[in-house]
Amino acid sequence: MPWWERNNLRLIQTNLREVDAAADVDRLIADVKEYSANVLMVNAGGIFAFYPTELEYHYRTPYLKGDFLGEVVGKAHRAGMRVIARFDFSKAHESIFARRPEWFYRTKDGREINYHGIVHTCLNGGYQQEYSLRIIGEVLDRYPVDGVFFNMFGYQTSDYSGNEYGFCYCDNCRRRFREMFGLELPASADPADPAYAKYREFQWITARDMLDKIHAAVKSRSREIAISTYSDHKVDIVRNESNTKLTRPHPVWPYSASENVKSIEDTFHDKLISNCCINAVDLPYRYMGVSRHEVAVRLYENIASGSGLDFCINGVFADYPDRENLQTVKEIFRFHRDHEAYFGELRSTADIALVKPMGSRAYGGREYLGIFKMLKESHTLFDVICQHHLPEREGDMDRYRLVIVPDIRHWEDRQLEALRRMQERGVRLLATGWSFAQPERAGFLKDAFDAEVAEFWPDADAAYLHVADKRTFPDFAERDWVFIAGAFACVRFGPSADTHLPLVLPSTYGPPEKAYGHRTGEFFGAGASRKSGRGDGILVPWQAGSLYYRHGYKDHKRLLLSLIDLAVDRRAQVSTDAPGCVELFWNRTPKGEGFLQLLNLSGFNGVTWAEPLPVGPIRVQLKGFGAVSSVAALKGGKIAWEADPASGDVTIELERLLDYEAIAVNQETGGTRA
Ligand SMILES: [Zn+2]
Repeated sequence: MPWWERNNLRLIQTNLREVDAAADVDRLIADVKEYSANVLMVNAGGIFAFYPTELEYHYRTPYLKGDFLGEVVGKAHRAGMRVIARFDFSKAHESIFARRPEWFYRTKDGREINYHGIVHTCLNGGYQQEYSLRIIGEVLDRYPVDGVFFNMFGYQTSDYSGNEYGFCYCDNCRRRFREMFGLELPASADPADPAYAKYREFQWITARDMLDKIHAAVKSRSREIAISTYSDHKVDIVRNESNTKLTRPHPVWPYSASENVKSIEDTFHDKLISNCCINAVDLPYRYMGVSRHEVAVRLYENIASGSGLDFCINGVFADYPDRENLQTVKEIFRFHRDHEAYFGELRSTADIALVKPMGSRAYGGREYLGIFKMLKESHTLFDVICQHHLPEREGDMDRYRLVIVPDIRHWEDRQLEALRRMQERGVRLLATGWSFAQPERAGFLKDAFDAEVAEFWPDADAAYLHVADKRTFPDFAERDWVFIAGAFACVRFGPSADTHLPLVLPSTYGPPEKAYGHRTGEFFGAGASRKSGRGDGILVPWQAGSLYYRHGYKDHKRLLLSLIDLAVDRRAQVSTDAPGCVELFWNRTPKGEGFLQLLNLSGFNGVTWAEPLPVGPIRVQLKGFGAVSSVAALKGGKIAWEADPASGDVTIELERLLDYEAIAVNQETGGTRA
């Protein structure tokens, strides 16, 4: 079994400066050991070589005296740590650009990007295509590293200051695109330009092709060397980051680490995710960290969602000017070391899957994140399955009773076929927004939801949904209308569908004297089709998730959760009285024992992270769990529990949740109590 497969990484990344090639390696190793780390990620090559390379076009950091990388690998191994060698081939020193200009990125008018002496390369140029493999080969031939990591893999079109330069128009890109599609490169990212759609495909194909080459080069040397980057193709350890950026629009996303981990952990059975907690507040500010409370939430979300730990600073600890978060990091790393047996092999018991859209930063991203947040806050167990991997996962998707599609408009035929077959086998579908609403998907919409679109509204300005049915929507005893905004599809449902939430058509809204005259139209906020012999299809043709993500009204959440309740009992396994600011995780261990984790997010006020307020008592009911021999809180929280032998229900009460608690629920085996 490869060393990483146990999924217990406690990774520290020291993102070195070129001057650190002269750093005291003994001190570096001793500092990292203080974190109970078992993996060290350290710079090897690419922009700067941290070892005495003999390759002509591999720029050595001028601060290198001996063999920094060699010394680090030897001493880290002796200290019981694995070493992942970090490479960055996205840029190279300007002295290489002077000699091999054909390897580099070009703007549309043929200019290179030179950022403080470092020049952007191109994925299709000879440096990335061939020379990078020689550099990797040199490192692997000389040093017994345990893994390779590639920073900024793929197409990079902006510099560190955030200036955007557009696609690469170098001769290699032009030639390769022409060979592949017989077209010239598109002039801009214009979705209406057919060449742009082809260019997206080109990026996807060429990036995968490069990963194929890297995979072949690395694995031909040893299967035991892990490949890691921010992609999932031919990668053993998928890397992601929980980071902040001063220019990132609000709302602040508190489930960053949970989402980053779940989307890979739940989707792939053969890959690890290592989600790096970036200490720095932003790239221009690499030497001040975010709040320690935010760091704690990221790290706990990592392990609670099924991964290990991963933390990064710039430079070395010896002169790092912000020590404020380091004690918190050490404590959580130590907790993971001491209780490692529980982590990394957690089994999901969820019967709801939420599909993560491809390219999730697009409009579909907000809808997805909003629904993710609703499910988290309501303590609903769910898995995340990446859209592009749906066909590969089809075989074991039948364990889900409901698959939620969050306003996903672009589909490959093979993905839709997989969904269609799942539904035929009885998996219910719930889709929001304009999912499947495009004319070319009309057949699917009809079959899956007994629905057809009559009209598209890009923005349902001033419309409401009439919540008349208080049985289906029990939280609306005192509120009859819920506003909607954003995209709405006016849908006609067929005879097999029950319609819900009649649309209240927009009327004049100003001045107040004219704000009346609303009437109910022929369209609805939801339709649930029940076709015999097929799974149900619930269509919610508005953007419940986006509305909740952006504005946070509980009403949009409560409407969508009530519609989910039409399809599945969300509390069939676990119910709790914990408030929405407590993130709940419920899993089984490989031995079948229960593992309950509770994370307190009450310190987050929407922007600021502070000490979480103690929450409790919290009661959690595990339904039909079975006989229990013992229940133990790993962080020492005070718990009481009782089991009902008749129903198998187990009720656990945690007196007070501080920041995080993990509760092992051990099953009674062989009829004897431990
Ligand atoms: Zn290019």
